[in-house]
Amino acid sequence: MTARIIDGNALAARVRGEIAEQAAQLAAQGVQPCLAVILVGNDPASAVYVRNKVSACEKAGIRSLRFDYPQDVTPGEVMAKLAELNADPAVHGILVQLPLPRQFDEAAVLEAISVAKDVDGFHAENVGRLSQSQEAFLPCTPHGVMKMLESEGVKVEGAEAVVIGRSNIVGKPMAMLLTNAGATVTVCHSKTRDLAFHTRRADIVVAAIGKPRFITGDMLKPGAVVIDVGINRLTEGPDAGKLAGDVDFASASEVAGLITPVPGGVGPMTITMLLANTVISASRAAARKGAA
Ligand code: NAD
Repeated sequence: MTARIIDGNALAARVRGEIAEQAAQLAAQGVQPCLAVILVGNDPASAVYVRNKVSACEKAGIRSLRFDYPQDVTPGEVMAKLAELNADPAVHGILVQLPLPRQFDEAAVLEAISVAKDVDGFHAENVGRLSQSQEAFLPCTPHGVMKMLESEGVKVEGAEAVVIGRSNIVGKPMAMLLTNAGATVTVCHSKTRDLAFHTRRADIVVAAIGKPRFITGDMLKPGAVVIDVGINRLTEGPDAGKLAGDVDFASASEVAGLITPVPGGVGPMTITMLLANTVISASRAAARKGAA
């Protein structure tokens, strides 16, 4: 079997077009959607992510505010900025780029963001709401994956889904969203005894491991839907310097029915869902303004 490829760039472009229309309508009502982004330190990958987010905002007609701090900034200074942004009615979304330097208590920083502006969906209250199937800002990467499954008409209800990875930002919320959508979900991680036993019986496999080309075709059920969240920069071999996912695309695409590539798969959907959450927050602000 040769898998059909899910084109994340095409889907992201379509959804971003809809978001741009909504942003323009809100701006016409006097509410210009606005995302504030905080970057601490000089991690090159974080700088690229922030640059991409800011540029995606601009293209969608979302205003962005960027605040850069040096590696040794005191947590108090960043917390003061968060308090200011929480109180600013012109700001609809606040994002603190992770990871933060050692002097920070990451959980405390995430909880200092107003729940109503937590467009990354990492605040403990939004996570709790998601776990109770209440309306919440959904974390962008797993939300983007759900959007991909939906756009491809993948039947999630009743499916056997295996999520590999249990991080707070991808694996755990991914498992929660699939559970809420009616899948029977198994979460595998570094302590899982026989990973292939689980992946071979899965209708849907989501890999969020951080290990290049780790999931190979022989670990998959023929016809499975394979979603590759991993983004890894290869350091050796003939492809050194290139990006690779957590799935070995060459062998997996021979077995899977549907597969996402890296790059051009989940990555573009992550930023798209950040824009979507910012516009949702702005439309709530517009509704409050209209009601006042
Ligand atoms: P993480 O390091 O926080 O978590 C990795 C998970 O993989 C852990 O839960 C660990 O238990 C599991 N794991 C490690 N080795 C394993 C093994 N041998 N078998 C089974 N499980 C194993 O990483 P993360 O933040 O969840 O990110 C995962 C990957 O997704 C990374 O490559 C990251 O760059 C990428 N990512 C991509 C996007 C995107 O927009 N596409 C967003 C976030 C993260």
